[in-house]
Amino acid sequence: MSDTHPNVYVVCGPTAVGKGTVLKEVFAHSDRLWYSVSATTRSPRPGEINGKDYYFVSRAEFDRMIADNRMLEWATVHKVHRYGTPREPVLQALAAGKIAVLELDLAGARQVRKTMPEAKQIFIAPPSWEALKQRLIGRGTEDAAEQERRLATARVELAAQDEFDEIVINDSVANATRKILHIMGINQ
Ligand code: 5GP
Repeated sequence: MSDTHPNVYVVCGPTAVGKGTVLKEVFAHSDRLWYSVSATTRSPRPGEINGKDYYFVSRAEFDRMIADNRMLEWATVHKVHRYGTPREPVLQALAAGKIAVLELDLAGARQVRKTMPEAKQIFIAPPSWEALKQRLIGRGTEDAAEQERRLATARVELAAQDEFDEIVINDSVANATRKILHIMGINQ
């Protein structure tokens, strides 16, 4: 593992910032990249696939995973559901020479900063607060109460962006992708 291009990257960013779209584009550029599929207690959104987008698990199963020390990190996100990174798949991916990408909330990023300080931490920021709000409302996948909760979380996350090694502004998918690939040392 080199100092400039470690094998673990944490990607954090507020709700609706476009993390999913940007990461999909980033992943299209290298076979070495490996996406850590999180476990969550929330229900799938239309089109989400168990084992690909998330491992959708019951609260009891999530409790068991924590008790068995099978989570690398976990957090309650937006004050409602729990999300966590299963540890074993990450270790296996690293052993296979992959570059692991962990998409986490702020609490998860902070935990990994302690347990895996060699991981590089990237924050994806919106061009503006207004743009973020419009994107969240525009995608229409959350009801008004959930939107409010997510915006409250987003405010806290944006205030913490300086904790990260790199801040990437998602002004366009192409720009954000290029910057992330550069940070990861992947040829474009
Ligand atoms: P969503 O419900 O929109 O898919 O995700 C909500 C939030 O959970 C996102 O900010 C995402 O980064 C975060 N998240 C997803 N997986 C994990 C995880 O494994 N651990 C932590 N701490 N946060 C996660």
